[in-house]
Amino acid sequence: MSVAVVLFTSDLRVHDQPVLRAALRAADEVVPLFVRDRGIGAAGFDAPNRLAFLADCLASLDAGLRARGGRLVVRTGEVVEQVCRMARESGADQVHVAGGVSGYAVRREERLRTELGSAGVRLVVHDAVITAVPPGQIVPSGKDHFAVFTPYFRRWEGTRTREVLDAPRTVRVPPAICGGPLPEWGAVEGVSPGLAQGGEEVGRTLLTSWLAGGIGSYEDRHDDLPGDATSRLSPYLHFGCLSPVELVHRARRRRSAGAAAFERQLAWRDFHHQVLAARPQAAWADYRERGDRWRTDEKEAAAWRAGRTGYPVVDAAMRQLLYEGWMHNRGRLLVASFLTKTLYVDWRVGARHFLDLLVDGDLANNQLNWQWVAGTGTDTRPNRVLNPLTQAKRFDPVGDYVRRWVPELAGLEGPAVHQPWLLAGQDRARIDYPDPIVALAEGRDRFARARGPGGDTV
Ligand code: FAD
Repeated sequence: MSVAVVLFTSDLRVHDQPVLRAALRAADEVVPLFVRDRGIGAAGFDAPNRLAFLADCLASLDAGLRARGGRLVVRTGEVVEQVCRMARESGADQVHVAGGVSGYAVRREERLRTELGSAGVRLVVHDAVITAVPPGQIVPSGKDHFAVFTPYFRRWEGTRTREVLDAPRTVRVPPAICGGPLPEWGAVEGVSPGLAQGGEEVGRTLLTSWLAGGIGSYEDRHDDLPGDATSRLSPYLHFGCLSPVELVHRARRRRSAGAAAFERQLAWRDFHHQVLAARPQAAWADYRERGDRWRTDEKEAAAWRAGRTGYPVVDAAMRQLLYEGWMHNRGRLLVASFLTKTLYVDWRVGARHFLDLLVDGDLANNQLNWQWVAGTGTDTRPNRVLNPLTQAKRFDPVGDYVRRWVPELAGLEGPAVHQPWLLAGQDRARIDYPDPIVALAEGRDRFARARGPGGDTV
């Protein structure tokens, strides 16, 4: 009886799952293994929101495997050690895993290859599991990755993605291998009250209703803050409950402007992954050094984190993050611009806070979007500043988003929703809401002095 181990990482699904399918083809029995990796916790990546969501994902994956006669095997410890031990225990001669992009994932893969190899076990790494187009598959001539999105996207759109795979009919697990209890991290402290439920089943239901409805108006409405008209699929993509290849195929079949705009966002996801794969140090180091001498102002950073900057649209978005562990993309753009450009605080401060809370918190997407906004990344207009008042007027014109997330301002109408400092005397005094922590002109001048001319404000 031949046995293969499937190491699940960021691909917690049974549908369109090349890793599982290849292992099932290659062996009579498989061990579907998830390791609660101590290394990830030590690196500060097991934020409560993601742990709670992950617990749902593992329960759903276990259910998906059980429906096919299998089950999930969970172990805790150092990942390479646990995989080698499982290969020994089960008598496996091969281990299958999805290719990752972070420095951590690449080192894990290298160590697995060496240590399994010395025990005579083969490591098989699969592409196009975590991204639609694998990093490195499309590159500009003479370079190892694309540094600008538009030319990347032109190539990406013309690239054939692999076919979507059905979920397997049966999964046979060696009977002697015990499963280990599924974790119950849902009970961890510090989980956002409005956190979404995780798992493949929930993700697939959400995807089906998105494709049948919301995607049609995505092009027109994706920036509408109160409309909340984006897919909200990001955490399911982050944990791999949904396959990006399947999403691209299904979006393409819709042939609408909304679906094309949605597909472009999936390309952004791949774009950031190929940047990180080529430059793993860009997770924490400037991708493009701009000579910044960032300010350190813990009081202002704390006001930003708490959603008490005095700029209602910024505060609304930061409070959405605290409450849901998720934030609308337009919100992410404007709060990141506010921190890095108006306050001129280091993007790493903001990226760390996002990683502590975001359920979709992802090294490639988070760090490289932060760098994009801060102007140290791949944006071709690095000194552009988003003005929170202009942004509020465009993307929350009547203030519904602010009223939803900032209850102190819920009774306000008209321009005062976005500028409560316009209220006079008693009306202003009645509201327990801070004055702006910085004047926008002061922030803009400071940033222009730091970065030099060439910035524009939108
Ligand atoms: P939709 O608008 O429905 O888009 C569909 C999918 O495309 C998303 O689920 C996501 O996987 C991908 N996508 C969309 N926009 C982007 C983008 N700009 N870059 C990369 N992929 C994108 N996204 C994350 O998944 N994890 C993060 O940690 C993360 N941090 C961010 C930090 C900042 C400062 C900014 C500006 C953006 C960040 N994003 C991150 C990108 C984007 O904001 C989210 O992917 C999006 O808001 C998720 O909502 P949605 O699923 O409804 O997106």
